[in-house]
Amino acid sequence: MSQPSTSPSVRPEQAADLAAARAAYEELRAGGLKLDLTRGKPSSEQLDLSDALLTILQPGDVKAADGTDCRNYGGLQGLPELRAVFAELLQVPAEQLFACGNASLTVMHDMVAHAMLSVLPGAERRWADEAEIRFLCPVPGYDRHFTICDRFGITMVPVPLTGEGPDMDVVEELVAADPRIKGMWCVPKYSNPTGESYSDETVRRLAAMPAAAPDFRLFWDNAYAVHHLTAEPTEVLPILAACADAGHPDRAFVFGSTSKITAAGAGVAFFGSSPANMAWYAGLAAAQTIGPDKLNQLRHARFFQDAAAVETHMERHRALLEPRFAAVYEVLERELGGIATWTRPSGGYFVSLQVPEGCASEVVRLAKEAGIALTPAGAAFPGGRDPRDSQIRLAPSFPTVDEVRTAMQGVAVCVRLAAAERAAG
Ligand code: PMP
Repeated sequence: MSQPSTSPSVRPEQAADLAAARAAYEELRAGGLKLDLTRGKPSSEQLDLSDALLTILQPGDVKAADGTDCRNYGGLQGLPELRAVFAELLQVPAEQLFACGNASLTVMHDMVAHAMLSVLPGAERRWADEAEIRFLCPVPGYDRHFTICDRFGITMVPVPLTGEGPDMDVVEELVAADPRIKGMWCVPKYSNPTGESYSDETVRRLAAMPAAAPDFRLFWDNAYAVHHLTAEPTEVLPILAACADAGHPDRAFVFGSTSKITAAGAGVAFFGSSPANMAWYAGLAAAQTIGPDKLNQLRHARFFQDAAAVETHMERHRALLEPRFAAVYEVLERELGGIATWTRPSGGYFVSLQVPEGCASEVVRLAKEAGIALTPAGAAFPGGRDPRDSQIRLAPSFPTVDEVRTAMQGVAVCVRLAAAERAAG
């Protein structure tokens, strides 16, 4: 579902609704709710789906398929049998994939730190020795990507999303002209927060476009590779193959993890790239660790014998997530048709709500006062500033279906009041 390019505007007749909206809001506030739609965390029922991981290994059963004792040091690239399962799902050849620690965000952060301190394949110098480093940031996007840029003093250049990925006319022009642009954040499937996936044309153009920086990298964060919300999974072209075909084999860094597949924050992260980038990374990672947690990787390999087992497991997640998303749409359609617009993603964890321009911060403030925590307005934009003050990210996975419905009814009351207040001036 595409992200609307314009925000709904306030209509004059909404001013007349002000008194009614205020009364509804006072009633909401008196209700003393305590609900949270802020972060895309799995619910406890979703976490229960992977509880077998807690007991799947027993004393005496700690060897990998090749005989490696997983209790001991070593194996920087991670367990081969687990890499084989996720290679297919992340569209990276198993021999080009690392199974790492517990969080892909750590690997993304480290990759920027390494590029700052060590010369990337193809680079003329370390990023720390450049006068300025810029990253393209499709917006609305994932706030933690922007936090990594902030941490390293990287200038963020917002680019619009179209519903099929970033606006490639804009991206191609910027990347071809500006050697300071060294990177670009991409969430290619069921993006956070718009839910959109990159079309084949978007992927091909990203792989093929000329870049002024010889060390330009796509930070391909495939966090939602298998997180479908419909019976027809979306396919995105494999980026490593597209880059190799286009003559830019070292362009993409691919990231993924089992965070929203098994235990969030206690799963396994993955990193895939070209042989040159792998060798570069392996040399640097060897200074950080003697090897990853192979016992956790073995647990995951036992739990998921093959890629099909992961897909079956994700169906169980979908069964728990779908009713929560349905509750969001049900309330939005009933309460906010004609006032707001929203996405209907076919995967991922979020609904992106567009409220009338200039109202998002006020909606979030009103909701907070009424006991409903929403992601701060603007969080999906670099610097935390949405130029239209219109976008709100809704994360319905964690609360129960009834709580989602109640929270969304409250959000609708807040949107009506903010819109009416604005219309009334
Ligand atoms: N990337 C995206 C786009 C995400 O939405 C999330 C989780 N919210 C992450 C990465 C975090 O992944 P991990 O737990 O592997 O660090």
